[in-house]
Amino acid sequence: MPSGRHLLQIPGPTNIPDRVLKALGTPIIDHRSPDAAQLVRACLDGLQTIFRTQDPVLIYSSSGTGAWEAALVNTLNPGDRVLACETGQFGAQWATVAKNIGLRAELIPGDWRHGANPAAIAERLSADREHEIRAVLVLHNETSTGITSDIPDVRGAMDSARHPALLMVDNISSLASIDYRHTEWGVDVSVGASQKGLMLPPGLGINAVSPKALEAARSSRFPKNYWRWQEILEWNTKGFFPYTPATAMLYGLRESLAMLREEGLENVLARHARLAEATRRAVCAWGLEFQAENPAERSNSITAIRMPEGHSEAGFRALVRERFNLSLGAGLGKVAGKLFRIGHMGDFNDLMLAGTLSGVEMGMTLAGIPHRKGGVDAALEYLTESLAIAANG
Ligand code: PLP
Repeated sequence: MPSGRHLLQIPGPTNIPDRVLKALGTPIIDHRSPDAAQLVRACLDGLQTIFRTQDPVLIYSSSGTGAWEAALVNTLNPGDRVLACETGQFGAQWATVAKNIGLRAELIPGDWRHGANPAAIAERLSADREHEIRAVLVLHNETSTGITSDIPDVRGAMDSARHPALLMVDNISSLASIDYRHTEWGVDVSVGASQKGLMLPPGLGINAVSPKALEAARSSRFPKNYWRWQEILEWNTKGFFPYTPATAMLYGLRESLAMLREEGLENVLARHARLAEATRRAVCAWGLEFQAENPAERSNSITAIRMPEGHSEAGFRALVRERFNLSLGAGLGKVAGKLFRIGHMGDFNDLMLAGTLSGVEMGMTLAGIPHRKGGVDAALEYLTESLAIAANG
């Protein structure tokens, strides 16, 4: 093993703070005891703050994919139509999950360089006069491309089409890192997971559910057991689960929620925005191309950088991993080999970013990837200036 800390700068799982690691090691208690009930309530209440909602939040011992499936099987019926957006690998993958469980999923095609297109959604919904489309599936932040979609605009498009479909939003890679508002934005089911902005290991999937989604759940005919909201919600009111929860993960979650509360959600979001801007300054100085063509859609949790033609991203990432103990994200699906991704979310600060960008810059030189010098300098200059401005009020 190389000496020193590993920098886990893939776009999730993210670095886990020592406080959370320690909490994960807390001795397991009886999951039907009063202490367990307190733990569960603290987790559910804290998550409501992060999703900015008073609607019920559910926690599954699953990855994010499980929480995707839970959103669908609780609210829909076999054979229903859903409309998804091909923002990238994960947008397409949610549609595949829908197809695999027996829904008719239609994908609005995308070029993987832009967010969800509200005009295309409005057009498709307006043409659906019989209201056969029962749900619109959108990613707030597409992890494979580093692109953030405008959810209020998507909601506006659905409202302008006067269409009653449920709005389901995946905020797996924006939760606790990019501003997200479940209730204010009129989202019916939000789908989150533990391993990104929440600074936890993979292993928890999350749903936040609106009254309209709960109403839909009452008549859903999908066969299901583990994912059934109603039963879990009934047990959760007493602080329990209908099965054995992942107690260690709940300890970790309570600690990560405490850390987010101590820092303040607004400050957490501002920290992510500032570190993302510094990353973007580095990319511009290097003269490299962003995967996100529209600057307004460039994500505050992930930056995806296109590899200059003829150069191997896999070779470059292997080099920085071996030389600098730094993990960067691969290109996925259609953009495999064409880009690499820097995750800058979760437990992350100025010097971790400086180290990450230094590893990228040195790695590009060693791998012979054409770029201009000065990316790290540009990032540090921005970080320093923004601190000076904040200090001077
Ligand atoms: N949605 C998004 C936006 C993701 O980034 C991921 C995984 O990275 C998933 C869904 C799938 O989640 P999981 O791999 O935890 O099942």
